[in-house]
Amino acid sequence: MIDVTLLGTGSPMVDPNRAGPSTLVKAGDSLFLVDCGRGVLMRAAAAGVGAANITALLLTHLHSDHITDLSDVITTRWVTTFVPTPLPIIGPPGTKAVVDATLAALAPDISYRIGHHPDITEPPSIQVHEYASGQVWDDGGVRITAAPTDHRPVEPTLGFRIEHDGVAVVLAGDTVPCAGLDDLAKGANALVHTVIRADLVEQMPVQRIRDILDYHSSVEQAAATAARAGVGTLVLTHYVPPLVPGQEDQWRAKAATEFSGPVEIGNDLLQVSVGN
Ligand SMILES: [Zn+2]
Ligand SMILES: [Zn+2]
Repeated sequence: MIDVTLLGTGSPMVDPNRAGPSTLVKAGDSLFLVDCGRGVLMRAAAAGVGAANITALLLTHLHSDHITDLSDVITTRWVTTFVPTPLPIIGPPGTKAVVDATLAALAPDISYRIGHHPDITEPPSIQVHEYASGQVWDDGGVRITAAPTDHRPVEPTLGFRIEHDGVAVVLAGDTVPCAGLDDLAKGANALVHTVIRADLVEQMPVQRIRDILDYHSSVEQAAATAARAGVGTLVLTHYVPPLVPGQEDQWRAKAATEFSGPVEIGNDLLQVSVGN
């Protein structure tokens, strides 16, 4: 089994009830944090996971909502790890520059803590690995493959396929339907896809909000991707506009126009266990 927990189902829009985009994937003994939006470590704590427990951080892209709490992940990992353990961060080209800039912004804090705690002698240990596609992880019985997605003009962007013990979960990130994602998701047991309700967003009076239609999949488009790839379960997240509790069936009905399999949708901390 692979366990998927939606830590944050929100979007750039601040929502008192939804953390920013982030998904936790437990495969074997490994815990992968995919994106690290607003409030991610609060939700991870609610799921019983601390920053020190994270095996690796995967970033689908460098849009602010997906990396808001990168500094929190780096710092909290650093100060709660008693045997220094590097944090692997895997992301698209450009990730290293963002991590380096984050560490630069943290320089005063890093100096305060090294100065104050005798047992903290080194700055946070981060291993950044940038990929445009291909295998990005093979350890602990877990293999992870990345493929380019289409979130233009934001590029490069990645989807990830996490495989363990014959089970595969694909995380699409933000993307419109594209061949890279179709190939990556082929035959996966579950596809976790960020979605917007195009029918609602196109009616919004603010142009800046309607602009997001350009580079996200609607619920129907995500469902069509799931159908083309023949995935087992479609997991929807990153709801724009925010999902109103009680209206889950409206979203499921949109997905059902294209995909006949099970569709999971819900609030932060929704857990979906995926197996054969
Ligand atoms: Zn994005
Ligand atoms: Zn996003």
